[in-house]
Amino acid sequence: MDARIAVDIGGTQIRAACYPDETMKPLAQLRASTQQPGKTPLESMFDLIAAVWPEEARVAKIAVAAPGPIDSKLGMILAAPNIPGWHDLPLKAELEKRFQTPAAVGNDANLAALGEYQFGAGMGHHYLLYLTISTGIGSGIIMADRLIDGAHGLGAEMGHVTVLPDGPLCGCGKRGHLEAVASGPGIARWVEEQLAAGEPSSLAGSQRLSAKEVATAAAQGDPLSLRAMQRGGTFIGYALADFLHIFNPTIVIFGGGVSRSGELLFSPMRKALEERVISPRYLQDLSLTTAALGDDAGLMGALALARSET
Ligand SMILES: [Zn+2]
Repeated sequence: MDARIAVDIGGTQIRAACYPDETMKPLAQLRASTQQPGKTPLESMFDLIAAVWPEEARVAKIAVAAPGPIDSKLGMILAAPNIPGWHDLPLKAELEKRFQTPAAVGNDANLAALGEYQFGAGMGHHYLLYLTISTGIGSGIIMADRLIDGAHGLGAEMGHVTVLPDGPLCGCGKRGHLEAVASGPGIARWVEEQLAAGEPSSLAGSQRLSAKEVATAAAQGDPLSLRAMQRGGTFIGYALADFLHIFNPTIVIFGGGVSRSGELLFSPMRKALEERVISPRYLQDLSLTTAALGDDAGLMGALALARSET
């Protein structure tokens, strides 16, 4: 019997699971902290893979979803700011050396798109965009049933399009990207700026706001928080109109914590989309929906990668 090992690693936790081919029921599934005393994150990941390694089955491939940017063709992590020491790390080569098994590595948002396409909200669609809106804005693109990530696997970074050329600094260090304006911290930062300028709000006096607090205040009718959600949703809509013009998908799937604010974000987004698309045809038969796999999207995407030919 053949099996595949799927791994999802983030700044706080690592998950690993071993799946026999042709079933979705794992033989073993474990999670652990990424940063454990006395161990590097790579050692912690190796230990977790060893712990789910099957006794009865042959492991045909290991696939890892990791925070990007990643050269997925080389299996090289270029930079993972939340994981200490993961800079120019040849992860695919390290895995193959340690386990003597073929390995593949992909950006977690790209693989989440692949997971939703194969096992989640995107099943049955051939042209799919995935956007995860949380601490950052990650994304993935499936076109004609293929994950599109460019020559070096560095493509599909839809969170890093410029929406405000002189806007706030983005997590990537550049200015005015969609992520800087409409991610959770981007929305919260805008509210903090308005509060500092003396705007009245039920959030006045709060320190270090989160997007969740802003969404809650907006749901309770706080005018400043409502404007903040509207602003975030509108910028996402502007950017998404551009993506529809480029990719013409049949479904856009939204993941991440900020997406859970629902209509507070989606209503202004749809309005902006309707304003900006060059033909209403882009919106006909277009499904805008939330992710089905939740926290499992990265792991499911890694499984899809582990089961793929490349
Ligand atoms: Zn950026």
